Amino acid sequence: MGAGLKMVAGWLLECSREFAARADELDELDRALGDGDHGTNMRRGFAAAETLDLDDLTSSADAMRHVGMALVQNVGGASGPLFGTFFLRVGASWDRSLSTAGIARAVRHGVDGVQARGKAKAGDKTMVDALLAAADSLEASASAGDELSVALDKAASAAEAGRDATVEMVARRGRAALKADESVGVVDPGAVSVALILRTAVHHIG
Ligand code: ADP
Ligand code: MG
Repeated sequence: MGAGLKMVAGWLLECSREFAARADELDELDRALGDGDHGTNMRRGFAAAETLDLDDLTSSADAMRHVGMALVQNVGGASGPLFGTFFLRVGASWDRSLSTAGIARAVRHGVDGVQARGKAKAGDKTMVDALLAAADSLEASASAGDELSVALDKAASAAEAGRDATVEMVARRGRAALKADESVGVVDPGAVSVALILRTAVHHIG
């Protein structure tokens, strides 16, 4: 297994463990404005991804495309196709040299795909608010010449700030939009998942 694939496989495996450990907490967050299944959905998607034999994969891009397919195929609702699209698109433009500029491009490509599919804009109180913050941060890091580990740490912090910013937003997309009037004061669970995925990346990549 190459170094890039080893890092990405380790990252995806830890994501799977984190979603298994935090499924109840994420379900509880989704109960406030949605139907209480977000943690269960993410756990199921990543558990399916874990059954794929990563040793058979030839590249880190392959690993991400496999996770994307597992999420699209095994998770219903809004989040499966949206998180699946993210990983499929990141995998499609992943540059195996693992540079800050390359990852910035891949993540932007992923966020563009999520927005094309779900139509959420910045400020709509969705996973997109955390993803856009991470993509912007990675691009700023690429311009500043940050090395990858520094860039990912900043991107994870930006995603966490994007997650926290959803608390004050009014929900405009997905099930939560049906409870728009009650949505201020509650964090968006999809944004919590994005922050988890980015923070986990810091432990493995770079
Ligand atoms: P469902 O809403 O179908 O039950 P989940 O509970 O698994 O799916 O996921 C809910 C999350 O999906 C929300 O917290 C939000 O971040 C994200 N989401 C829902 N609709 C959209 C959309 N149109 N664009 C971007 N993200 C969305
Ligand atoms: Mg839900």
